[in-house]
This record gives sequence, C-alpha cells and structure tokens, in this order.
Amino acid sequence: MSILVYVDHFQGKTKPVSGEIMGKARELAGKTGLPVVAFVVGQNVGGVAAEAIAYGADKVLVADAASFSQFRTHAYVAAFKAAIATAKPHIILVPTSAGVRDAAALAACELNIGLAADCQGLALDANGNLLAERPVFSGNMLTTIVFAAQPQMATVRPRSFPLPAADKSRTGEIVLLAVALDGLASAEEVLEFETTETGEVSVENAGIIVSGGRGVKGPEGFAPLRELARLLGGAVGASRAAVDAGWIPYPHQVGQTGKSVRPDLYIAAGISGAIQHLAGMSNAKVIVAINKDKDAPIFSLARYGIVGDLFEVTPALTAALKRKLGK
Ligand SMILES: Cc1cc2nc3c(=O)[nH]c(=O)nc-3n(C[C@H](O)[C@H](O)[C@H](O)COP(=O)(O)OP(=O)(O)OC[C@H]3O[C@@H](n4cnc5c(N)ncnc54)[C@H](O)[C@@H]3O)c2cc1C
Repeated sequence: MSILVYVDHFQGKTKPVSGEIMGKARELAGKTGLPVVAFVVGQNVGGVAAEAIAYGADKVLVADAASFSQFRTHAYVAAFKAAIATAKPHIILVPTSAGVRDAAALAACELNIGLAADCQGLALDANGNLLAERPVFSGNMLTTIVFAAQPQMATVRPRSFPLPAADKSRTGEIVLLAVALDGLASAEEVLEFETTETGEVSVENAGIIVSGGRGVKGPEGFAPLRELARLLGGAVGASRAAVDAGWIPYPHQVGQTGKSVRPDLYIAAGISGAIQHLAGMSNAKVIVAINKDKDAPIFSLARYGIVGDLFEVTPALTAALKRKLGK
C-alpha cells in the first residue's frame, strides 16, 4: 500500500503543482505511515524523477520511452494502470493539468476507482481514508467527498498547497515501469506540436494576476495591464468576453470555461463580475477591482474597489508602484 502521486512536467521541467501535491502527500504519509510513491511518464525524465525524491517521494516509478515524449491519452492511461498495479495505492493524487486530468479520469473509469476531480483541499478521516474538498455550483459552495472503497483518487488544482522546499539530500529508489503499449495505447500518433508559449507567466501558477475584460475595448487595451503584470512579476488574465472578441488567446481566460486560479492578488480591470468569471477567481486571497461602474457586481467580492477609468487608474497604479519599488 502506498500514496501514489503523478508528477507532471513540461518537457522535463517539473510543474510546481507536482511539488505542491508531493508536499501534501508527505503530510498524509506522516499520518498513515504509508510510503509516497511518485510516477513520472515521459522521455528522458531522470531529472524529474530525482526532483520527485527531493520533494518527498520514497520511490519513483518511471515510464521513460520515446512513445511518451508527448502526451497521448491512451498511452498515458496505460502508464497510469501499470503504476497503479505496481504501487497498489490506498490514495492516488494527480494534478489537474491539461491532458493528464483526462488520462486520470479514463484510468479511474477503466479500473472502477472513485475519483474526486478538481480538489483544493485534502485531509484524512480517523480511519486514514481520504477526505477531498472540491468547489461545486460555480465555486459558491465547497463539498467534501468521502470514498466508499479503495483506491481513493483525487485530481488537485494548482496552488492548493504551499510548494515545499526541495531537499536534494533526500534519497529514494528509482524503478523503471514497464508499460504494455498495445491496442488503443499505441493507436494515437502525434503529427505535429505547436506551442503558443509567449514567454508570459501562466495564470495557473501565478501569485499575482492582472486581468482585463470587455472594458479594455481591444487587444491594445491590454498593454497597460501587461505593464502592471510585468512590474509585479505576475500573469495577464482575461474574461471570456475579451477572449471571445479575439483580443487575447484562450490560455489567459479565467472562469468556469477557462482556468481556475488561486493567486495571492487578483486585479480585475474592466470586468463586470459575472458568476462564470467569479467561478474561476473567487478563491484569490486579495481581489482588487477597477471599474467605472460603481454598481458592477465585482465590487461585492473585491477587498479593494477603485471606481474609475482603467486607462487612467492602471497606469497611475503602475507609476506609483514603480516609485514604491524603486524601479
Ligand atoms: C456557459 C458559460 C460559461 C462562461 N464561462 C466564462 C468564463 O470562463 N470566464 C468569463 O469571464 N466569462 C464566462 N462566461 C461569460 C460571462 O457570463 C460574462 O459574459 C463575461 O464574464 C463578461 O465579461 P466582462 O466582465 O469582461 O464583460 P462585461 O460584462 O461587458 O463587463 C465589462 C465591464 O467593464 C467595465 N468598463 C467598461 N469600460 C471601462 C473602463 N474604461 N474602465 C473601467 N471599467 C470599464 C464596465 O462597467 C463593465 O462592468 C460564460 C458564460 C456562459 C453562459
């Protein structure tokens, strides 16, 4: 028996959410006495396996092959099934990253495992069974999922737990995981890989997000928000209205049909505060709203509200922060 953690990475670089989940898994391991087994899928992922140990894994199962160089649903499902068969986990934790969340769901389905999706809190009951907290009704309520059987599987949102410090002096066992790629698992082929990476911070992992909505009035209206985000080392987010208008690409969209974010600071400029937008950002620690309509619904959620024109307020905020930060 073990606590099994899927360690997600992008081209060999461990995603912070993997470290966050590993930190939580170590805490659960301390309470249950179970070992933490990580599993890594990809090509040339020895570095990711070593990092998994530094973040708290006792053992790492590695499916390292050319056929895993890019995400393919059924091949990754085969790896999930092999890891579960090997680790015999009591608890399985997986990040909600794109792609891998699908593989986790499909593996859970094929193995008849109960899965709590999109969790943001994990605890144990008195018998060491998982209690998985997840938002429901567009984030207006939190619910705790209990499991009727084992294994108990949860996908976990980024920034749900603090990122522990990696301890490079930790030691652990790295074991190659044999995965049979036959049938559906070998049926998909990746023909081409296009990246939309712009070098900007991704909203999912950002501690600070400056978001714009229909009020920015066009693609160039994001310029003052981008400047403020850059100054603060944050990411640029957007409402669906701005994305649908083609002013900014979809990866920036926050909300029910976009990303769920949990930054320390969320600045919403020219965003009215529709329920579908709030569903993705209401868990931010501090919300600042800039809107020229004093009755905009976003103000009921914001800790600080600035009634004014974002094209005046945002540059003034940037200039004041530059002075304060001596930049
Ligand atoms: C199934 C479904 C899923 C959805 N998913 C999402 C989602 O994931 N994310 C999302 O965001 N929406 C989503 N929506 C859309 C959502 O309902 C709203 O339509 C959208 O959030 C509105 O975007 P907005 O606030 O930018 O635009 P608006 O509601 O038009 O608000 C624009 C705001 O800008 C203010 N403003 C205008 N000019 C200025 C200025 N110069 N300075 C300051 N303020 C100004 C206005 O006062 C107004 O409050 C979804 C809807 C549905 C039905």
